[in-house]
Amino acid sequence: MTSTPEAAETEIPAALTDPRQAIGPTGRPLPEFPEPEPLTEHGPARIVSICNQKGGVGKTTTTINLGAALAELGRRVLLVDFDPQGALSVGLGKGDPRQLDLTVHNLLLENNVSWEEIVIDTGVEGMDLLPSNIDLSGAEVQLVHEVGREYILAQALKPAVPEYDCILIDCQPSLGLLTVNALAASHGVLVPLECEYFAMRGVALLMETIEKVQSRINPELQIDGVLGTMYDSRTLHTREVLQRIVQAFGDRVFHTVINRTVRFPDATVAGEPITYFDPSSMGANAYRELAKEVLARWSQAG
Ligand code: ADP
Ligand code: MG
Repeated sequence: MTSTPEAAETEIPAALTDPRQAIGPTGRPLPEFPEPEPLTEHGPARIVSICNQKGGVGKTTTTINLGAALAELGRRVLLVDFDPQGALSVGLGKGDPRQLDLTVHNLLLENNVSWEEIVIDTGVEGMDLLPSNIDLSGAEVQLVHEVGREYILAQALKPAVPEYDCILIDCQPSLGLLTVNALAASHGVLVPLECEYFAMRGVALLMETIEKVQSRINPELQIDGVLGTMYDSRTLHTREVLQRIVQAFGDRVFHTVINRTVRFPDATVAGEPITYFDPSSMGANAYRELAKEVLARWSQAG
């Protein structure tokens, strides 16, 4: 058989497209993730930051859809919109500034405001939201003058921990004080990386920041995993990028990868997680697999 560069682009090895093949898209044998046991009681929550200072890598999409998939598995989920752009709130149809009386901004900067006054229903059973809007953009400057400025979010979330099984924080695309607050509050960090040429750019800086937070303010912080997003198995290019990500991060890379599909932007426009917008889509199933994989890792992390 002759092999042309074109053939390399179009011939897709079955192992890369069929999730039940022995070898998964990351090039490693693909385990079956166990169906998690239903919970009889809830909490205390594992707090996880979804973090990458690069924009457009799938942080917000992962927060919404991993959250919804965990809720589908009977977990009580709280999402925290920690980006002044408010994309998480918008993506759940809660972005209208007139609808938002109190936001995470009030939670951070007003001592007498509790999470319970801010929390809103997402329309997804079992999943709540602490919303944000552009007000949060002022918080970084204001927090600089606070005592214990790195711990403000951790303090504010503490009373919510017994009420949920997981709290997912959607970080802003920067490594500033807000992101440090998110990392200081978290047990784990999940890093989405777009399977594109520049994916690894800036990742060293992100890892350095995580290590500084670990050594200076939150020794318990773990890297829960690195998630390949916007994966397109038809192109050699994204397959190579994913291989490089696996070379760099080894077993930290989730076996589950998220394909590039317009269903995600479509779901955002509809203000719904993909598990509601298009429940049987590949994208919805990918986040369901990720939820099972994440729960398996968390149970090992203890
Ligand atoms: P971030 O929060 O890191 O800036 P987003 O989750 O907002 O990134 O994603 C950026 C854009 O890419 C959004 O328009 C989103 O709908 C789209 N997107 C996210 N994940 C995917 C995917 N797997 N395939 C296609 N588009 C995606
Ligand atoms: Mg975002």
